[in-house]
Amino acid sequence: MEQIRENIKQIKAEIEEACRRVKREAKEVKLLAVSKTVPVAVLAEAYQGGQVLFGESRAQELKCKVPLLPEEISWHFIGTLQRNKVKDVVGRVALIHSVDSLALAREINKRAGKKGLLVDLLLQVNVAGEETKRGFTPLEVVASAREIGQLPAVRLKGLMTLAPYVENAEKVRPFFRELKALAQTLEQLQLPGVQMQELSMGMSHDFTVAVEEGATIVRLGSRIFGKRNELGR
Ligand SMILES: *Cc1c(COP(=O)(O)O)cnc(C)c1O
Repeated sequence: MEQIRENIKQIKAEIEEACRRVKREAKEVKLLAVSKTVPVAVLAEAYQGGQVLFGESRAQELKCKVPLLPEEISWHFIGTLQRNKVKDVVGRVALIHSVDSLALAREINKRAGKKGLLVDLLLQVNVAGEETKRGFTPLEVVASAREIGQLPAVRLKGLMTLAPYVENAEKVRPFFRELKALAQTLEQLQLPGVQMQELSMGMSHDFTVAVEEGATIVRLGSRIFGKRNELGR
């Protein structure tokens, strides 16, 4: 438990250093603790230590954990979201990072409308064009953002990407840079219902590079909680 707080402290120091290198303010960067597969008792400890942003990637797990932990926690959804699970996520999270199709955005809008909510979203972009990863292609982003911006019960707040996993994190720098450039393009278009406030990029092994390239949310699991014992994710 002490170890988790120590890990978070160390990560924050690394975020600050990365910000210093590129003359950004460290307060522009939020640390999302990716808590998938992590037991609630461990999350409670991290919360006691001051961590308030947690990211889950499965609707069922989110639904189980939320009522067991303090209301002050801000939950984010970061995983593949099936349309029939949208109802379990809407109303429980502050931000959905992983909107990877128009059909999903429309379903979120529908569920949010029914509950009288306004739900914040990020578009997941497959900047590296990996076959195995979901997300909009960079070429689809503008048209999709334009459509999503028209939906009354959602707000498009930015972009998210999952970079390829490579040993040398420097190799993914161009993908982070491309996501930032896409966000800037969208910002300049000033589409109704679209604001580019958040860039969700960077994980345990590449977050310092992502911060240097403009990330506002970094998503870290294993660096905080240790290696996951996971089946199929
Ligand atoms: C699991 C996961 C992370 C965290 O991965 P680590 O390598 O453990 O930091 C970040 N983003 C998404 C979308 C994930 O599914």
